[in-house]
Amino acid sequence: MKGGKLIIFSAPSGSGKTTIVRHLLKQSELNLAFSVSATSRPRRGKEKEGEHYYFITVSEFKQHIKKDDFLEWEEVYRDNFYGTLKSEVERLWAEGKNVIFDIDVAGGLRIKKKFPKETLAVFVKPPSVDELKIRLKKRSTESDDKINMRIAKASVELATAPQFDKVIKNYDLDTALNEAHELVAEFVGVNQTE
Ligand code: 5GP
Repeated sequence: MKGGKLIIFSAPSGSGKTTIVRHLLKQSELNLAFSVSATSRPRRGKEKEGEHYYFITVSEFKQHIKKDDFLEWEEVYRDNFYGTLKSEVERLWAEGKNVIFDIDVAGGLRIKKKFPKETLAVFVKPPSVDELKIRLKKRSTESDDKINMRIAKASVELATAPQFDKVIKNYDLDTALNEAHELVAEFVGVNQTE
């Protein structure tokens, strides 16, 4: 596999990485395209097939694992598999795009290991685990059980921050957005227009 740059945003659930990734995708000079992951978790609210995720069954997911179709995959939560299909990155590279990922910490580090030169791996740090809990509750897309599961995982994930190329503290959203924009612009080699 060969092509443009890979930009990874990883963070505990609720840290604001999705907001940051969406903001960056709007900056046309960065020439970014979103890597749509495959997942076996159920579709939430307004999520669209092929836009947010490729929604597949656990058995379809396991077939892809068998065929070695994934660049990386994780059982992020029990029976909720998430993975980056090699075909997805190949497709976006063929379009001449830099690929941006919103994936979990383990997956992010795995891609970084496979493509050390092409990858910028950014960790988004929430103000605190308590604040994370508040944000996840506000989002109210999941049950208390699922929120607690995400919080438990967050503490483990926070410890991996030093393994990333850069850490952005998302204490103030505008500051975090600017910082992310600057980092990515520098990495892909363009001057910022904003
Ligand atoms: P959610 O269920 O909130 O959409 O995602 C749960 C977690 O899975 C998030 O941390 C998200 O970034 C991560 N995730 C999404 N896609 C992938 C993927 O392809 N690979 C890995 N390893 N994690 C992913």
